[in-house]
Amino acid sequence: MGKVYNFSAGPSMLPEEVLAEAASELQDYQGSGMSVMEMSHRSALYMEIINHAEQQLRSLMEIPHNYKVLFVQGGASLQFAMVPLNLMAKSSTADYVNTGMWSKKAIAECKKFGNANVVATSEDKNFNYIPALSKDMFDSQAAYVHITTNNTIFGTRYTQLPDTGDVPLVADMSSNILSEKLDVSKFGIIYAGAQKNIGPAGVTVVIIREDLLDQRMETVPSLLNYQIQAENGSMYNTPPCYSIYIAKLVFGWLKRNGGVEVMQKRNEEKAKVLYDFLDESKLFTATVQPQYRSLMNVPFVLPQEQLNDAFIKQATTAGFVNLKGHRSVGGMRASIYNAMTLEGVQKLVQFMKQFESQNR
Ligand SMILES: *Cc1c(COP(=O)(O)O)cnc(C)c1O
Repeated sequence: MGKVYNFSAGPSMLPEEVLAEAASELQDYQGSGMSVMEMSHRSALYMEIINHAEQQLRSLMEIPHNYKVLFVQGGASLQFAMVPLNLMAKSSTADYVNTGMWSKKAIAECKKFGNANVVATSEDKNFNYIPALSKDMFDSQAAYVHITTNNTIFGTRYTQLPDTGDVPLVADMSSNILSEKLDVSKFGIIYAGAQKNIGPAGVTVVIIREDLLDQRMETVPSLLNYQIQAENGSMYNTPPCYSIYIAKLVFGWLKRNGGVEVMQKRNEEKAKVLYDFLDESKLFTATVQPQYRSLMNVPFVLPQEQLNDAFIKQATTAGFVNLKGHRSVGGMRASIYNAMTLEGVQKLVQFMKQFESQNR
């Protein structure tokens, strides 16, 4: 098979330029005679890579000085536990908004350490919207409020952040970090597994306001302690060196291409091409209510299960791969992260039009 259009929800496609760059220095990184995979994480050469990665991310997201950037392991799923472990010193209650499977997993994990209070949920409509939130819904004594800014499986996103007053807002941003402009200062903690919109699996980015570094429970293991990670520059133990290096290349690619603002415009344009077609189609249907639609993950269905199967099969043969939807929604899902080109989305829509004309 030649080059395909890869709509995988994660791990997902990386920019071609980044893969080429990584390939060109795979065996000999900048004349060192070794691969990034083979060098000490404490060498000057590697320190430059991790520092540069952090600086570029800070600049791309305009991260304020009173926030630490950590590169940790364990995926977003470990953050589900690290957040309560690190924030529940004073209050053992946290507020959660349940907007899908990842929120649910975060809630379940929190319950092992304290009270996870679900203030709102969209489960009544199979998570096809984001519940309305107002300040009076939150407990002013809660340790934090947790939201999932983009729901990878159900294809919804917050277009407005809740006002939580003085209670820190914690966000799982795994599938929309760097895809749209967001004001970091509105958050206590932002975390994201890398494999959706940053780089390869294995590294998780945590952006944490410094005053939240000393709110932990006594029993938190050292490796899961944000403060220890921060004091050691994410090198309390060996970090996921190569994943951080690829993330650095992706950050460089983003910067060369105009940064988050330009990326957001491109993402809006890409999503519009797909949603416009879905809304006018007599065969395909988008599953999410218009005002909550994700720019990154676009679920859609055909009227019969048989047609879904036929579409996925024919699309795969035509080079549009990984379009099968998550089992909890069914149908299809096109994930169109930063690395997906407008051309890729246009070609997919062309293919969908052709499928529609043959199946009416
Ligand atoms: C993929 C995903 C996760 C899980 O990430 P892991 O890195 O595999 O633990 C959590 N939250 C969201 C929103 C995701 O998209």
